[in-house]
Amino acid sequence: MTSYVGHNGKTIVDRVEADGREGRLGGMLTIPVRREIAHEIISLSYGFFTPLEGFMNREQVESTLNEMELPDGTLWSIPIVFDLAPEKISEYGLRSGDEVLLEYDGSPIARFSMDDIFDYNTDEMSEKTYGTKDLKHPGVKRTHSYQGKFIGGKVTLVNEPKFNPPYDRFWMTPKQHIDAFRKKKWKHIVAHQTRNVPHTGHEALMKQAWFAANEDMPVDQIRTGILVNAIIGEKRVGDYIDESILLTQDALRQYGYFREDVHMVTFTLWDMRYAGPREAIFHAILRTNLGCTHHMFGRDHAGVGNFYRPYDAQDLLKQYREKLSIKPVFLMENWYCPECAEVTNASVCGHEKKAQNFSGTLLRSILTDGVKPTKKVMRPEVFDVVMKSASDYGVGSPFVTEKYLASRRPIFNLRKMEVQKA
Ligand SMILES: [Zn+2]
Repeated sequence: MTSYVGHNGKTIVDRVEADGREGRLGGMLTIPVRREIAHEIISLSYGFFTPLEGFMNREQVESTLNEMELPDGTLWSIPIVFDLAPEKISEYGLRSGDEVLLEYDGSPIARFSMDDIFDYNTDEMSEKTYGTKDLKHPGVKRTHSYQGKFIGGKVTLVNEPKFNPPYDRFWMTPKQHIDAFRKKKWKHIVAHQTRNVPHTGHEALMKQAWFAANEDMPVDQIRTGILVNAIIGEKRVGDYIDESILLTQDALRQYGYFREDVHMVTFTLWDMRYAGPREAIFHAILRTNLGCTHHMFGRDHAGVGNFYRPYDAQDLLKQYREKLSIKPVFLMENWYCPECAEVTNASVCGHEKKAQNFSGTLLRSILTDGVKPTKKVMRPEVFDVVMKSASDYGVGSPFVTEKYLASRRPIFNLRKMEVQKA
């Protein structure tokens, strides 16, 4: 039998019930959940968050925040919680030990075996996760929007999401990632976390990381691959639209900037918390569960504003090196150097005064105007895919707008099920 091993040597969690068992769900109390919770149910059930099998109970939250580990000593950095208003808990008459049916978008999604209903101080949760209580931090804001009570317990997916184009081409469960890597005969897989349309600086980072991850293996037989794993979740106005991110990253391989056999693109449903160092640890865990052996970490990984210093995340990863089941690959931000006439960086290029940084802001303004950036900055085929995806999916813009948020096609649909309500 094939084995699927994830973070800290744990077997990949698989809590997905086969289709066609609606009958068993009849008469269960049904509770609707919002998008954030639905996404996390999917990630938990397929094992993206192995070894977690459900939403955290109080003991798990406490040890995550205070010890950065689960009660059994497994490294863990971000609380994964299910929140509900106290009034709802009384209205539904929920008690520890009950099992309920969770519903999303009018369809059942999961069974939820509640084992702990608890309070938690959201100031403390914020401060320990994000290192700040400042409401300007999006993660702190999110934590403060929790509805007062938390419920811990295992979830079992009863309705598998059906992903809509173009997501369907990029969706893989953790086990499917591991199978795909075996098929490609990749021994080392380096993960690239992204929420970006790639400029040449990103492309060079991935190429630098490939050599680091290949280590002492031969270079004339491909045994190392790059997994570009996009984060698909909560969007804010001004972000790249999800469709553009996936299609442009994939275009790099389609147009030969990466060989067919060294590169693939998938995504994970996750709302960025912008927790900087703690989120870097979380990303390392997540990609371990996808079968990766290496993970790229650049400057200010998963940071926001000036809340973290540029290399805080790399420092924390070094500190927990022994408890990670994946090797971090540390990188600097690339720049374009006119003297070297190439994309390079401060680690090696000595023309600091002449180097041109890739400015996200500048690139955005160019793309917003639909002007083709110079080849030094963006591959022409990537630009064409950005523009096409903007018109196909982004109501004319590769960036999230209010209009996009209001009219975007759902990422996935759930099958309608006939279930007798309680
Ligand atoms: Zn130079």
